[in-house]
Amino acid sequence: MAEGNKGPSTTVRNIGIMAHIDAGKTTLTERLLFMTGRIHRMGEVHEGQATMDWMPQEQERGITITSAVTTLVWRKTDIHLIDTPGHVDFTIEVERSLRVLDGVIAVLDGVAGVEPQTETVWRQADKFDVPRFVFVNKLDRPGASFERSVQSLQDHFGGERIILPVQIPIGEEGEHQGVVDLITRKGLVWDGEDPAETTEVDVPAELVKDVEARRAELLESLADLDDDIAEAYLDGAPISEEKIRTVIRAGTVSGRLVPVLCGSALKNRGIPPVLEGIVDYLPSPADLSTLTGEDPEGDEPVVRQLNINAPLAALAFKVMIMEDGRRMSFLRVYSGRLRVGAAVWNATREFEEKISRIFVMHANQRKRVSAIDCGNIVGVLGLKKSMTGDTLTDKDAPMVLESIAGQKPVIYQAVEPMTSAEKEKLDQTLDKLAEEDPTFHTYEDKGTGERVISGMGELHLEVVADRLHRQFGLETRVGKPQVVFRETISAAATEVAEFDRVFEEKRMYGKVSVRVEPLERGTGVQFENRCDKEFLEGEFLAAAREGAMATASSGPLEGHQLDDARFIIMDAEMIEGVSAPIAFRIAASEAATQACLAASPVKMEPIMEVEITVPEEHLGAAMSSINERKGKVESMSEQGHYRLVHARVPLQAMFGYSKDIRTRTQGKGTFSMTFSHYDVML
Ligand code: GDP
Ligand code: MG
Repeated sequence: MAEGNKGPSTTVRNIGIMAHIDAGKTTLTERLLFMTGRIHRMGEVHEGQATMDWMPQEQERGITITSAVTTLVWRKTDIHLIDTPGHVDFTIEVERSLRVLDGVIAVLDGVAGVEPQTETVWRQADKFDVPRFVFVNKLDRPGASFERSVQSLQDHFGGERIILPVQIPIGEEGEHQGVVDLITRKGLVWDGEDPAETTEVDVPAELVKDVEARRAELLESLADLDDDIAEAYLDGAPISEEKIRTVIRAGTVSGRLVPVLCGSALKNRGIPPVLEGIVDYLPSPADLSTLTGEDPEGDEPVVRQLNINAPLAALAFKVMIMEDGRRMSFLRVYSGRLRVGAAVWNATREFEEKISRIFVMHANQRKRVSAIDCGNIVGVLGLKKSMTGDTLTDKDAPMVLESIAGQKPVIYQAVEPMTSAEKEKLDQTLDKLAEEDPTFHTYEDKGTGERVISGMGELHLEVVADRLHRQFGLETRVGKPQVVFRETISAAATEVAEFDRVFEEKRMYGKVSVRVEPLERGTGVQFENRCDKEFLEGEFLAAAREGAMATASSGPLEGHQLDDARFIIMDAEMIEGVSAPIAFRIAASEAATQACLAASPVKMEPIMEVEITVPEEHLGAAMSSINERKGKVESMSEQGHYRLVHARVPLQAMFGYSKDIRTRTQGKGTFSMTFSHYDVML
């Protein structure tokens, strides 16, 4: 086939579904899979049978942890669906999915409206500029209200975007039967259990007024975005459905507006319009015209047209070790075409690898293909060393895409095998798991000789321990989870150190003066050279830098990582003929350590941002739970009958909190927690 300058396919959607935990993400996904014929029986989450939640521990917990990619087909469009996790311990999973997605469905609980994690994931989607529409779910539940849910979206996000209902429900709570499409002025009702079995009806008489009012509002909003609609609207002229959809699509893709749909996933109402919404409103890879990355060889950014004939550019956004030990890498192919057997260049780390298999994914089932065009998301085998965040390209046209930011671990615990015979297998398995997950770390504690695992939260490490048992058949004992501390300095200080020794009859000499200065919280560690002596460059400067920075990796108090400090080389001295770089490294390290000790070092602990949601009558209990934990309440807000408390609390005080808040609020309080920053312990 002669290939023109063909762009990415317009019949592909790379999308995700995100929500506050329990809003119905998994249930909606199941319905979408069922509707598109990918599954033949709908598993219910509470039966532990949902297809996407395929890791055993996810099924038991009823939560979704690992992003599984699945492909479904609707209106000749390949929809690649990435299941994003709902638990805050797994923000990295959410972020790495968002990095490769083109659009998102935000699921809202129609009773609760916008919840804390809805806000968290919404902000994450903002960060990556991902267009979205909202599905207001659970309209069958007592207390559900579409109107209130839309208002809550308006209150939270309306300032930045036009919140645009494109449907209203026919009946709510026990009466929920279907939806009215505001564009076509047609009703859709579902009588049975099958989401595909719909009956088209006229707008029920009691809704006609409401539908007309909402439709007018919709057109008014669109008139702000499109002159043709503005003109027709003012003249009272008819506007075609197609025109309306086109403008909604353009507004959604540009991020100006967010369409709102509704229904009940559990009761199978409103599902086909969600599929229509994905195709009609969410962007295809073709809506992304160019790709920008770094040139590994130069300073100018590389801008690439996205088409099949362009050189390859793909981002590895997830690595998964499968049951048989093989490594499956998930790639988003942005430009060019990926072929089985072809060599690819890892532009991030500069080495070549081979692709041995390409799979299109459906949860844990895979279909082999021999090549895949840009715009797609696939799983591949054969990459042995490439990691999450790496860019794969053609060797003669390298570019590096922005990597996926890893987060630093805040919690750790010791882990040991039940039988010492399994020690080696445990070590190897943990190393593998760390390859999969950039937020999971493992090492041997030099003091105790224990194997340590470390990550983003209690649940994160629990899941690791669980996988060791189920997936790898390893029985382990784990120690108590503990907080990862850091150190910093609270004053500035300068110290000088000299190294002068004879090694194997050769004298080595170096003298360095190092100053340390405290930096603002969250800045990290910086290095600067203020000594302008000519010899202090090249190897000598590198050695001095290495020495000073070594001090940062092991702080002066208890050896924790040092943060928020600048190391400055103030002066250095050498003796011609006897000075060696190693002497400068040792002298700089010694001077830096002494300077840190003189600079009033202090210990820091991780502080979490906590958001608690409780019914009004339990507000007092929530406040005292924060006070008892030395937390600081930052703000409070109302959401209907609920009170939201935002607080900052040391992570150390948060262990066991989920049980405690439930006990104190008769099971009605929930909370979410994300890492905020490190700060000095009180
Ligand atoms: P996720 O955490 O967002 O994946 O939410 P799930 O899909 O696991 O759903 C959480 C709970 O809400 C489950 O018990 C579902 O059966 C229930 N649920 C989901 N959708 C609906 C709905 O439309 N109506 C009602 N009444 N319950 C629902
Ligand atoms: Mg789920």
